[in-house]
Amino acid sequence: MEIREPVWREREAPRALSEGERQLAETLAAATREDDLVAQVRQAHVAADCGCGCSSVRLAGDGPAVGPDVVRRLSSNDRDDYVCVSAGVAGGADGEPASVTLHVVGGLVHELELFAGEGVPMAPPAVDRLRHITVS
Ligand SMILES: [Zn+2]
Repeated sequence: MEIREPVWREREAPRALSEGERQLAETLAAATREDDLVAQVRQAHVAADCGCGCSSVRLAGDGPAVGPDVVRRLSSNDRDDYVCVSAGVAGGADGEPASVTLHVVGGLVHELELFAGEGVPMAPPAVDRLRHITVS
C-alpha cells in the first residue's frame, strides 16, 4: 500500500456529494458487489476536504458498517479492517496519469481519493472513463 498522509480540513458543515462524486463513489462501491457499501455511499456526506490541493474528500455517514468478515473476504491481503477499490482514469487528468480510490475503513466508506499528482485538483471523472477497477 502506498504511504499517503492526507491533511484533512474539516468542514464547518458537511456537504452533499456532488453528482460526479456520487456516481464515481457508487460505481467503485458497486464493484465490491456489497449492496450495503453502495447504500452507505448514497447517504454519505463530505465531512472534510484534503488540504494538499487535490480533490480527495473524506466521507461520513451513518452506516451501518459492513462486518469484518465481509471486509476480510474483499481484502486481497486478509485484512478485516481495510479494503479499497481503485481504478485508472482513461485519458488521465489534463494528460497526466490519474487514478481514483474508494477507501473503506472499519467497514465504512471513508475517503474518495482523486489522484492526479500530489496537490493536483481534478474533477471527478465520468464513470465510463474508469479502467481496471480493482478491489484489494
Ligand atoms: Zn490531497
